Amino acid sequence: MSGVLAILEQRGGAWNRMSWEAFAAGREIAKATGAPLMACVPGYAIEPLLPDLMCRDAAKVYAVSHPLLENYTADGYTAALEQLVKKAAPEYVVFPHTYQVRDFAPRLATRFGETLIADVVGLEIRDSRPVFIRQLMQGKLNGAYGHSGRGPCFVSVQAGAFAAEGLEAGTPECEAFVPELAESRIRARVEPPFREATQTVDLSSAPIIVSVGRGIQSKDNLPVMETLAEALGAELAASRPICDSGWLPMERQVGSSGQTVTPKVYFAVGISGAIQHLIGMKGSKCIVAINKDESAPIFEVADYGIVGDLFEVVPALTEAVRRAKS
Ligand code: FAD
Repeated sequence: MSGVLAILEQRGGAWNRMSWEAFAAGREIAKATGAPLMACVPGYAIEPLLPDLMCRDAAKVYAVSHPLLENYTADGYTAALEQLVKKAAPEYVVFPHTYQVRDFAPRLATRFGETLIADVVGLEIRDSRPVFIRQLMQGKLNGAYGHSGRGPCFVSVQAGAFAAEGLEAGTPECEAFVPELAESRIRARVEPPFREATQTVDLSSAPIIVSVGRGIQSKDNLPVMETLAEALGAELAASRPICDSGWLPMERQVGSSGQTVTPKVYFAVGISGAIQHLIGMKGSKCIVAINKDESAPIFEVADYGIVGDLFEVVPALTEAVRRAKS
């Protein structure tokens, strides 16, 4: 058992961008362990995707193709990738932490008597062995996870944790792999894809964003934030719990399952700074955090931090902005 296998994701012939972050994580593990990197893409009629992969710095690419993999099913993907992992015999298997991976990867790991080290946000190398970092308690603690089972070691990496930019070029060998799959063993019946509502707010082009989190406590308190946004000429955004509660529309959510924004100024108000939120806003040019908890993780990425009660700080700030503008 040796090598690192990065399992990439595509849907309908389009790459999931997190695939390249999983590839980058695989590259780091391969470098640290001195093992070859392999990559695979499961699906059907995936040939048009291969050129994107065949120029990457990997030793081998597996094109895993079967008509029963055209549409994703947990049964189909688990069976196909179980066969591939047995054949390729990697020591590490790396996935992007996507919804699809969450659906089937724990089961795949279980087939090998292993668990999935899920949602990894970092990697440390200790004695030439990778140690995987996961966040605990809303990002307040980091846990370091080493692998001691028989293997392979299955790992999924969080969006934004590994940089896909700057990957080196290479000329991997390509091997077609046709798994043995039977329709009778696939229990799910695939329906037409769910279509999301058209997005009307484009936060990605807003120069100033005022983003509100659970610290606001109630929908009735939102006008405090709306007034600040209005004074600044900013767009209002939110962390996921605010949108999940229906206090603001989903299209205003920032984060791994919302929009990615890079404004000139991002105000994070009553937001703790969970990794899923940080992924969507850490590229902002200037981050101002307002939080009553001085140890909130948001302060680690903030350029300016105000420790205080938002119900005191935000009205004072709004007043100061109005005065400065008048
Ligand atoms: P909390 O973590 O509850 O933080 C509230 C903060 O407000 C605390 O830091 C507290 O100190 C502060 N506070 C409380 N009262 C006051 C006050 N009066 N004045 C000042 N500060 C105060 N989250 C996202 O945001 N975007 C995503 O896209 C996203 N995607 C996710 C995807 C998955 C698969 C999962 C599992 C989670 C996702 N999450 C996402 C959720 C994420 O993990 C966090 O739960 C969420 O970001 C927390 O939101 P929050 O910071 O508003 O709330």
